Amino acid sequence: MKNYINGKWQATTGTAQIVVINPNNEEQILHYTAASTQDVDAAVNAANQALDAWSMTTPQQRAAWLNKIADQLETAKAKLIELSHRNNGKSSEQAQVDVENSIKCYRYYADLVQNMAFSKTTQCEDGTELTHQQNPVGVVALITPWNFPLITSAWKIAPALAAGCSIVFKPSELVPLPEYAFTEILDQIQFPQGVFNLILGDAVAAQHLVVHADVQKVSFTGSTEVGIHVMQAAAPSVKRVTLELGGKSPILILEDANLDEAVDKALGGMFYNSGQMCSATSRLLVHQSIAEPFYQKLKLAVESMLLGTDLTGALAMGPMTTEKQFKKVHEYLNIAQQEKLQSLIDLNQIALPNKGFFIKPHVFIDVPTDSRLWKEEIFGPVMCCRSFATEDEAVRLANDSEFGLAATIITGSVEHGKNIAKRLRSGHIWINSHQMIQPGSLWGGFKKSGIGRELGESGIQSYLEENVITI
Ligand code: NAD
Repeated sequence: MKNYINGKWQATTGTAQIVVINPNNEEQILHYTAASTQDVDAAVNAANQALDAWSMTTPQQRAAWLNKIADQLETAKAKLIELSHRNNGKSSEQAQVDVENSIKCYRYYADLVQNMAFSKTTQCEDGTELTHQQNPVGVVALITPWNFPLITSAWKIAPALAAGCSIVFKPSELVPLPEYAFTEILDQIQFPQGVFNLILGDAVAAQHLVVHADVQKVSFTGSTEVGIHVMQAAAPSVKRVTLELGGKSPILILEDANLDEAVDKALGGMFYNSGQMCSATSRLLVHQSIAEPFYQKLKLAVESMLLGTDLTGALAMGPMTTEKQFKKVHEYLNIAQQEKLQSLIDLNQIALPNKGFFIKPHVFIDVPTDSRLWKEEIFGPVMCCRSFATEDEAVRLANDSEFGLAATIITGSVEHGKNIAKRLRSGHIWINSHQMIQPGSLWGGFKKSGIGRELGESGIQSYLEENVITI
C-alpha cells in the first residue's frame, strides 16, 4: 500500500505498522506502513502546487471530471462492494447502497457546479462597480472514519473538487481498501496531478495535516473526542473547520403512529450497519398509550434478527467493523448489567456466529435518563427506550442530549410531525422515514454533533471563500 502524491504512488518514509482485519472472520487482510509527517508534507506541497491551475478551471471542466469519476465508480461497482464487505463487514447489499450513494453525490455536485454563479457584478449609484467572487478556500485536508467508506469521503471530495480546491485525503487507517481502490480510479483516468492526494496513515499523519501551515481548511468526520482535538489544533492557524461528529439521536413514536411502520423504522434506524451510524436513532421515545403493543412487536422483530456474513434484508446484521469497537460495545453491555437495565429481548433467541466481531442486538426499556447508555454514543446495536405521557415531555427528552445530529418522528399525520420537527434541535429530521440522505439535502449537527454542514449547496459553500473587487 502506497500513498498517492502528485499523481504517483509513493512508498512511505514512515515506520509504524498498521494491521487490517476482516471483521467477518477476524483474519488479517494486510498490514502496511503508516504515512509519516514527511509524506504529509509532500502531499500538501503537491496540493499547493496544483491549486492555482485547478482553481482556474471552469465549473464545466470540473463537472466533467466529477462525472468521469462517477462513471468509473459505476464500472468498478462490484470490486468496491467486495472490498467494503471484506474490510468493513458490510453485507454486499449495504455496500452497494454506499457505492450508489457515492456515485449520486459526484453526479449531484457535477450538476450543481455547472449552474452556479461564481461571480456577480453590480453597479452602485455613484458609478462604483462591485464584483463579488466565490473562490476556492485552498488546500483542504479531508479526514474520515471507517463506518461508511466511499460515501463519507464523497460528501467531502465531490464538493471540494467542484469548488476548485485541491485535496489531501486521509481515510480511516483501519478501513483503507475501498478508498485505495477509489484512488486507483483517479489514477486510471489521469486526474490532474496533485489535485487529489491520498495519505494512508493514522493519528500522527492526521494531526500533522491539521496543523500544516499550507492547509486552509479541515473537514473532519469522526468521534466528538477527536473532533475537539481537531478544532483546538486548527485554531492557531485560524483554519476553517467542518466537524461531523457523534450523535445520540431520538426516534419519537407518536400516539397516532402505525405500529408496524414504527417497528420497521425503529429497526432500520438503529440496526442498519450494525448500529455503527453517527445518526443511529438509539434513544426511542414511545407514547405510553401504545408502548405495550409496540414493545411486543419490537421484541418479536428483534428476536427474529439474523447475524452473519453478507446476509441480506432488514432483519440481518453484520459484525462490528473493528475489534476496538467490538470491545467498546461490550463495555457498555457490562455497564447495562451493572445498572440493572431491563432487557426487552430474550437473547437466547438469537444465534451468534462462531467467528467475527458479531454482537447481538440489544433493546433496553424504561432506561433512566441518567444512565450512561441513555446519554452516551455507543456506536453499536444497542437501543434504549422510554415511554412519554405528553408531546412536551417527548420534545424535552429528545432535546435533552449534548448531541443534536438527527431525529426521526413516526406519526399518522405528516403535519403533526412537522410541528414536532420545528421543536427538535437536530440537523436532520426524518418523518416516517429513516436514515435516507439525499445529496441535495443537508448533513451536520447541532451542539456537540459538529460544526458546519455537508451536502446540498451548503456543502459546496463550505469550500468557498467570498471576496469583492471594487472598481
Ligand atoms: P475517530 O475519531 O477515532 O477517527 C476518525 C478519523 O480521525 C480517522 O481517520 C483517524 O485516523 C483520525 N484521527 C485520529 N486522531 C486524530 C487526531 N488527533 N487529529 C486528527 N485526526 C485524527 O472515529 P472513528 O472511530 O473512526 O469513527 C467513529 C466515530 O465517527 C463515531 O463517533 C461517529 O459518531 C463518528 N461519525 C460521525 C459522522 C457524522 O456525519 N457526524 C459520520 C460517521 C461517523
